[in-house]
Amino acid sequence: MKTARISSGQEFTVGKILCIGRNYVDHIHELGNEVPTAPVIFMKPASSVISEGERIVIPSYSNDCHHEGELAVLIGKTGKDIPLDKALDHVAGYGAAIDLTLRDVQAELKKKGLPWDIAKGFDTACPLSDFAPAELVPDPQLLQVRLSVNGEIRQNGPTALMINPVANIISHLSTIFTLEPGDVILSGTPAGVGRIVSGDRLLAEIPGVARIEVSVA
Ligand code: MG
Repeated sequence: MKTARISSGQEFTVGKILCIGRNYVDHIHELGNEVPTAPVIFMKPASSVISEGERIVIPSYSNDCHHEGELAVLIGKTGKDIPLDKALDHVAGYGAAIDLTLRDVQAELKKKGLPWDIAKGFDTACPLSDFAPAELVPDPQLLQVRLSVNGEIRQNGPTALMINPVANIISHLSTIFTLEPGDVILSGTPAGVGRIVSGDRLLAEIPGVARIEVSVA
């Protein structure tokens, strides 16, 4: 079991990790995708989580593992069909995550119309920081998502540019899945994704809120 920690001391066992794809227009364009009419949703298993200082192990069946720095949202309260104006009441904390993606494997799966699990859900595919308590983040759309590789900034996008803001994501997801304490939402990545290789050091941060540093084995 994996643990999500809030800096105030509270701990949750990580439940389902619900991920939003194509939530920033600039990232959609860099991959040549269409802007979706409804949120693109996929999941990572809790077993894919690693924490500060741990190592990413790129599976042998890929030659093109990409970083996607993202704002992570930790759910603290159970909810189903959550109304938009109550959505943020279900958040326990905000953190930084990296949605590691085997881009070559994903491209093959997309071509065949197959699910993305082996490109997105492998062991170590979800570096996840400790979380800042939600009460310290009055508006999740006024944050920055930053990712650097070996000290060089590769991604630096404002959450204000999300197509589906966090409250809308929570409300929408809760019509499909009962959200439970310990569930984590990865809210999509801004532009600047790219390949990582053995020895790289990755730092994902939501400045002023959370950060996680990991390296590639
Ligand atoms: Mg992503």
